[in-house]
Amino acid sequence: MKNNNKYNLTATLKHPEIEQMLTNLTGVSRVGAVAESSCVTCENTVGDFKDELSEKEYTISGMCQECQDSVYAGDWEL
Ligand SMILES: [Zn+2]
Repeated sequence: MKNNNKYNLTATLKHPEIEQMLTNLTGVSRVGAVAESSCVTCENTVGDFKDELSEKEYTISGMCQECQDSVYAGDWEL
C-alpha cells in the first residue's frame, strides 16, 4: 500500500521535471513553441513535414523538419 502510493507520486511528478529539463536544454518552452507552430531550435515557423513520423516527432521534440534532419544527420555545429 505504501509502496504503491510512492510509485504513483513519482510517476506523476516526472512530467513537469522532464518539461523543465527540455525547457532548460533548449531555452524555449517546448509546449509553448508547439502551440505556436514554431521551432524550439531555429525559432522559425514550422513548415510541412515530410512524413507522419516527422510530424509526430515535432510534437515530442518541438523541432521543425530542417532541424530534425540536421539532428538525425549528426551535423550539429556546437
Ligand atoms: Zn527549426
